[in-house]
Amino acid sequence: MATLPLAPGAAIGIIGGGQLGRMLALAAARLGFDTVILEPEPGSPAARVATRAIVAPYDDPAALRDLASAAGVVTYEFENVPAAAVAGLVEMDVAVAPGPRALAVAQDRFEEKTFLNAHGAPTVAFAAADTPPRAAEAVALIGAPALMKTRREGYDGKGQRWVEHVADAAVAFAELGSVPVIVEAACDFVRELSVIAARGRDGATAIYPLAENHHEGGVLRRSIAPARASEALADQAERIAARVLAGLDYVGVIGIELFELADGRLLVNEFAPRVHNTGHWTQDGCEVDQFEQHIRAVAGWPLGPTAAIAQVEMLNLLGDEADGWRRFAAEPETRIHLYGKREAKPGRKMGHINRVKPLA
Ligand code: AMP
Repeated sequence: MATLPLAPGAAIGIIGGGQLGRMLALAAARLGFDTVILEPEPGSPAARVATRAIVAPYDDPAALRDLASAAGVVTYEFENVPAAAVAGLVEMDVAVAPGPRALAVAQDRFEEKTFLNAHGAPTVAFAAADTPPRAAEAVALIGAPALMKTRREGYDGKGQRWVEHVADAAVAFAELGSVPVIVEAACDFVRELSVIAARGRDGATAIYPLAENHHEGGVLRRSIAPARASEALADQAERIAARVLAGLDYVGVIGIELFELADGRLLVNEFAPRVHNTGHWTQDGCEVDQFEQHIRAVAGWPLGPTAAIAQVEMLNLLGDEADGWRRFAAEPETRIHLYGKREAKPGRKMGHINRVKPLA
C-alpha cells in the first residue's frame, strides 16, 4: 500500500483512456504526479498526455500486476470497470479510489436506487424485474407510463425504453435484451441539475455549486453553472451529496444527477463514481476544478476550495463541431478543451468549450 499522502513524483494509475482520463492525467501532471493509463485501445486520448500507457484489457492479470507495481494509487474514469479488476488490485494491496463498494453500487441501477433511499436521498419509485411477467407486474405496480432501464451498463440514454401500457412491458423487456431491468416512475421534472462533490481520505467533503443541464437525444449538450438556485435548493443538494458520500465511505469526486420538481424538491436520478461531464464547467469557473480535486482526494491531499469564480456555459462539441475551433479561438470569452480524438463520428464527444462571464 502506498504511503499517503502521495508525494509529487509518485505515479497515479488511471483505468480508462478517454477524455476524463486525459483531463485527470493533465491535472495530475500539474501537481507533479506521473500517470499510468490502462486502456485496451492504443493511442487513446489519455495515453497521449500520460507518462505511460499499458495497452491491455481492463481485467488482464499481467496488466493489472504491471499497474499495481507502477502506481501507488489507482483510480478510474468510467463506472463499468470490471469488478474483478478492482478486486485484483485491492488484493495486491493497491489503494483503489473510489473503492469497490462505490463501484458495485453505481454499476447496478437497482442497487443504486436502493442505496440512495436507504441513505435519505430520495428517488422516483422503482421496481426490479428479470422476466417478462415480472416486467409487466413492475409496470403495473409503478404505473404507466414508466421508464424501463437495464440494471447494468446503460449510459447516455442507451438501454432504456418508455413503456406506455402494462401490455407493452414484455416487448420492452425483450427489446432491452431480456436482461434484468429496473422500472422507474416517470419523473415530471422542471429542470435537470447536478451536483459535483468530493470526499477526501480524511472524510472531509467539498461540494460545488449546482449545474443546470440540458440533454439532446440522451446526450449532454449544455450545462449552465452556477445554476440559478434558492438557498433551500442548494442546501437540499448539499445534504444529498453529503449523505451519498458518507454512505459510500467515498474517496474522490462524484457526479450526482438530480431532478428538480415543481414543488422545489430534488430527487436523485443517478450518480457516477468519477469526474462528470456536468462538472467540466469547474475547469474555468471554480477555484479548484473537479479533475484536480479528484487527484487531490485519491492522493490523500487536502481538498481544494470549490467556490465559483465565474459564470460558465459549458457546451459539448459533438462529431464535427470541434472543427469550429478557429471560431471558438477567436472568442475572448471561450476556453477550449479538445480531447485529441482522431476520428469524429456523429454524436461522439470530441471536446467542450466553456464560455465564461463574470459572476452576476
Ligand atoms: P439516465 O441514463 O438514467 O441518466 O437517463 C437519461 C435521461 O433520461 C435523464 O437525463 C433524463 O432526461 C431522462 N430520465 C431518466 N430517468 C427518468 C425518469 N424516471 N423519468 C423521466 N425522465 C427520466
